[in-house]
Amino acid sequence: MHENLLHMTGICKAYTGRGRESVSVLSDFYLGIRAGEEVGLSGPSGFGKSTVARIIMGIEVPDAGHVFWRDQIVCDATTQPDREFFRKVQMVWQDPFIYLNPFLSVRSSIVEPMAAFGIGSKRERRERADSLMQTMGLDPNLGRYRPGMLSGGQCQRAAIARALAVSPELLICDEALCGLDLPLQVDIMAHLTSVQEKSNMALLFISHDRDCISRVCSRTIYLDRQTNSLFPD
Ligand code: ADP
Ligand code: MG
Repeated sequence: MHENLLHMTGICKAYTGRGRESVSVLSDFYLGIRAGEEVGLSGPSGFGKSTVARIIMGIEVPDAGHVFWRDQIVCDATTQPDREFFRKVQMVWQDPFIYLNPFLSVRSSIVEPMAAFGIGSKRERRERADSLMQTMGLDPNLGRYRPGMLSGGQCQRAAIARALAVSPELLICDEALCGLDLPLQVDIMAHLTSVQEKSNMALLFISHDRDCISRVCSRTIYLDRQTNSLFPD
C-alpha cells in the first residue's frame, strides 16, 4: 500500500450562474496521487477538470471536502496552501503566456521562481535554466529572446522548464499541450516523461483528449458529470 502524495476527498463545488441558480460541478469528488505516479484526468469540456486543478492550487475554495498533502490538510473551506506548497506543486496551463512575462527574456522567466525560493546563486540559476531548456528540448540560445519571438510549442517547453525549475514533487498540466500539433505533443511528452522518471516527480495530466493522456499516464480517470464518479480507463 503506497501512501498518497496528494489526495482530495469529499470535494463539492458549485458555481452560482447568471440566473443566481447554483450549478454543481463537483460532488463528493475523490482523487489520490502517489509519489512518482502519473495520473490522467479526463472528461468532456465543462465537466470540472480545471476546477479540480484550481482547488488543488487554492485558487478556488471548495464548498466542502479537503485537499491533503501527505497527511496534512492544505486546502479546504478555511485553509489555504502555504508558500512551500507552491514549490512542491507546480502548474502548467494551456496558455504559456500566463507564466512568461512578455517583457522579460525567456531565460529570466525560468530563473524567476528559483530566485523567489532562494535556490542557488545567480550564476547557478542561469545555468540551471539553460539545462532545463535543454531537458525540455529547447535550444538554450533561445533563452535570451522574449516569448513573443518564440513559437507556441517553444513557449510551452519554456513554461514547463520554468515549472520544473523549483523541483516540484507534483506537476499539474491542465490542457498544457492542447492546440499543439501531434508530433510536437508527443515530443514534449517524451521529454516530460524522462524528467519524471529521473526525478520521481508525480504528474497530474488533465486533458479532454483521452488519446493524449493515455500516451503518458499509467492510470487515467474519467470525470462524469451525472455521478461525478471516476471510471478507470
Ligand atoms: P473543464 O476544465 O472540464 O472544461 P471547468 O472546471 O473549467 O471545466 O468548468 C466546469 C463548469 O463550471 C463549466 O460549466 C464552467 O462554465 C463552470 N465554471 C467554471 N468556473 C466558473 C466560475 N468562476 N463561475 C461560474 N461558473 C464557472
Ligand atoms: Mg479546463
